[in-house]
Amino acid sequence: MRTIETEAVILATSDHGESDRLITFLTRSNGKLKGIAKGARRSQKRFVHSFEPLSLVALQIRERSAVSLLWVEACRLMEPHMALRNALERWGFASLLAEVVVELVPERLPQEEIFLLLRDSLTHLEADRDAINAVILGLYRVLTALGYILDLGSCSQCGQPLDKIGRYWLHLARGRLLCDGHQNRAQGFVRLDLGTLAFLRRARVVELEQLWRLRLRPGDQASLLESLLEVVRTQIGKELKSGKFLRGIGAL
Ligand SMILES: [Zn+2]
Repeated sequence: MRTIETEAVILATSDHGESDRLITFLTRSNGKLKGIAKGARRSQKRFVHSFEPLSLVALQIRERSAVSLLWVEACRLMEPHMALRNALERWGFASLLAEVVVELVPERLPQEEIFLLLRDSLTHLEADRDAINAVILGLYRVLTALGYILDLGSCSQCGQPLDKIGRYWLHLARGRLLCDGHQNRAQGFVRLDLGTLAFLRRARVVELEQLWRLRLRPGDQASLLESLLEVVRTQIGKELKSGKFLRGIGAL
């Protein structure tokens, strides 16, 4: 039996039997995992407040077999993100990213980039003045890393490279990007100019440390976030709970 030590973000927790908790983590080294924390319901002492969703923790887990649940041996709180917990909209955006990871990231498939994106998104959602910019960048890059965002190099219809000043039409959930000449646009296409398209192309490939410096124009934020949520909805076949919450508080 192997013991793994890794950084992790807590994604979700639920009761498991009389005294245990079932924890879903996104780990840095081993991807998304589920583990049992023995006695976590009965005794707070062993895992002092470590299992709050969105907390960053140092985790020690033991594998029992390749298929069964893991044991959580130790879990040390590194960053509780208290400022997120006290701000409704920021909390909603952070929960949205965690829910997307729960729904779309496969278990036990190490993807360090997705861990770093989630970890750093939470930091920026906590600290950045423009929280919606941070959630858009994080969500866009997570969906890109999972392969759900089309390559934005050329028109999906005629194949022309899109590098001229002009208007473009994007439907992320359908994976279509059109130049202005085509008449076959159904509902749901978002109009872009070359500046926004350049932003999206850069945000796909830029180093993670530089990602957070990118600023989307405020006028483009709401429609792009809706487009990204539609990509998620198309993949999972339902509305995210955190999406409903954000609509409820008027943040979407
Ligand atoms: Zn075209």
